[in-house]
Amino acid sequence: MQKSVSLHTLGCKLNYSETSTLSGEFNKKGFKIADYGEKSDIFVLNTCTVTDNADKECRQIIRSVLHKNPDTYVIITGCYAQLRPNEIASILGVDLVLGTNEKFKLFEYADNFEKKSFSCVFTSPINEVTDFDYAYSSDVDSRTRAFLKIQDGCDYNCSFCTIPLARGGSRSLAINKVIENAQKIIDNGYREIVLTGVNTGDYNYTINNGTVKKYKLIDVLYELDELDVKRIRISSIEPNLLTDEIIQLTKSSGKFCNHFHIPLQSGDMSVLKMMRRRYNTTQYSELIQKLIEEIPGIGIGVDVIVGFPGETDENFENTWKFLDELKVSYLHVFSYSERKDTFAVTLPGNVDITKRKKRSKILRELSLKKKAAFYSKNIGNTENVLFETVKNGSIFGFTGNYIKVKTEANKDYENKIIKVILTGNDSYNYCSGNIIN
Ligand code: SF4
Repeated sequence: MQKSVSLHTLGCKLNYSETSTLSGEFNKKGFKIADYGEKSDIFVLNTCTVTDNADKECRQIIRSVLHKNPDTYVIITGCYAQLRPNEIASILGVDLVLGTNEKFKLFEYADNFEKKSFSCVFTSPINEVTDFDYAYSSDVDSRTRAFLKIQDGCDYNCSFCTIPLARGGSRSLAINKVIENAQKIIDNGYREIVLTGVNTGDYNYTINNGTVKKYKLIDVLYELDELDVKRIRISSIEPNLLTDEIIQLTKSSGKFCNHFHIPLQSGDMSVLKMMRRRYNTTQYSELIQKLIEEIPGIGIGVDVIVGFPGETDENFENTWKFLDELKVSYLHVFSYSERKDTFAVTLPGNVDITKRKKRSKILRELSLKKKAAFYSKNIGNTENVLFETVKNGSIFGFTGNYIKVKTEANKDYENKIIKVILTGNDSYNYCSGNIIN
């Protein structure tokens, strides 16, 4: 009898991309893919370590899945599984725990998905992971964008981050595989490729066949630019890796979106230093200024963490002022949360939770203000919008510079790039737009 599987993801785009690949593998092997929440024979949870209370979240999800179907075979993988496998194995109902290196070997470990009364754990030390488990995948709910993973792991050692511990050192997909996978995505009808990785800007691949040739991210971008793809977006890039060459290619090619997501983390010099980030606020603001001058209409998103150990009221005020003056379009705000085995957790100056929440709220409000201003500035502009699917009498899509646009539903617009004039702004959620015929 055909078995069914339901998969669920916590965390970042990379995790979504990988879950989607696993889903594709199940599909190829003849399993029926059930929606998350539907009854299924197998359940896979791809976890994240950045999530606060990862164990609590895991427990709740497993409980609710088993409540619907007590015989479901439960597999937990992802960053949390790599870092705390035994913690997960002790959760009642878990059958299989797979680390980072084992994630894509799931079928080898699953023992025919026969439920037992104990959990099996398979993980390997992350410093032994050198393989690149490449994944090309589709966005979870649309046929418009596909995430292409080109890099994994990270060699940086930001003091708050456990990702290098969970995913290992930086490694990159062979350039020929990147292009091959990009071509598959195009052949499957996707209009936009989103390049993903843990530290995508650190792409670094060497071919040595007598002569040594090194490929960096810019080389990947040049090759992708030759393909017949409508749009390419870089999901996130560290500021120190966003080079002049990348900026110039974005400006000239017409395929690369005029949108960058650039982690800042703090607008205070001393906090940045304690975070062990590889730039200072002056370099960051100069980069933003350069992007604005060079790339017309650019949309810029910024990650920021509040409540890092030792962040005083004055440090936070500096961050607020820095961000207030910065001409960016939105912020992604995170409250610092303690992670075992990081340097940050050993630092003095714990910021209490109420204060973290308050600071987070202040920056979220600033983000809304920035987004509203950015959307308003674009009213009257003509933009190419990649429309997704019709929902409740409307259709939504995104511009290259990442403005969400709403217009009247029309099935013909689905998965098409259409010229739209932006007519109004509901401030925080989307711009309305009229199709230009
Ligand atoms: S760059 Fe820093 S924050 Fe990002 S994954 Fe690497 S160590 Fe973590």
